[in-house]
Amino acid sequence: KGALYIVPTPIGNLEDMTFRAVKTLQEVDLIAAEDTRQTKKLLNHFQIHTPLISYHEHNKEANGKKIISAILEGKNVALVSDAGTPTISDPGYELVVQALDADCKVIPLPGANAAITALTASGLTTSHFYFYGFLHRQKKEKKKQLEQLKQIPDTMIFYEAPHRLKDTLEMMLEVFGNRKMVLARELTKKFEEFVRGTIGDVIDWLEEGEVRGEFCLIVEGSKEVEIEKEWWHSLSVIEHVDYYI
Ligand code: SAM
Repeated sequence: KGALYIVPTPIGNLEDMTFRAVKTLQEVDLIAAEDTRQTKKLLNHFQIHTPLISYHEHNKEANGKKIISAILEGKNVALVSDAGTPTISDPGYELVVQALDADCKVIPLPGANAAITALTASGLTTSHFYFYGFLHRQKKEKKKQLEQLKQIPDTMIFYEAPHRLKDTLEMMLEVFGNRKMVLARELTKKFEEFVRGTIGDVIDWLEEGEVRGEFCLIVEGSKEVEIEKEWWHSLSVIEHVDYYI
């Protein structure tokens, strides 16, 4: 039996490709790619000549079976997406499950990922965080999702398309209140930019010009739990004083 390798690729800067990722893509028998044309550009850059098979949302069932059969025949297969880490807001989850069900080895490589890259420079706490990825496209559903996230005390990470950014931020302001947030734009690319402030500040910034590029949103968690803790603490101090009186 072969193995399924999960191989991250750069999110903008080609120099973020790891030595191990290049070596793995060179050595495997087959590369399963979200968009073969996109991946071909990457392979050309690194002079990799491994054959490709397409694997995306619309052919995952049929091609998933082909990929698992290849692994069962002894072939090593690498899974890549267009950018960043496969399976993270990208295709691949079902393939991993199929591989595990077939008792195949799944070998993940660490590498580029927009969420973690944005979080590390955000200046918001990294000790606990919640990755959400994309919110629902429909307003009603999106609001429901935000309501569910309202109480989470941990830093939250979202992906968002440029044309939905303003609507999403306005809804966040309405549901979460004017919390701190960071907009991470075009990470690892020439025009990388961080907009730090409150949700309201970032909306103001968006209104200044045209919104282009790729965006990650890092939003401060709820402070309600902390306030509750403080309240509890002050209560026990009062009790303590009473006891001495
Ligand atoms: N699998 C990828 C990863 O590991 O980061 C994410 C793929 S998801 C389809 C694409 C979204 O990730 C974009 O809409 C954007 O929200 C975020 N993203 C990807 N590249 C980015 C970059 N260079 N700068 C900021 N956000 C980025």
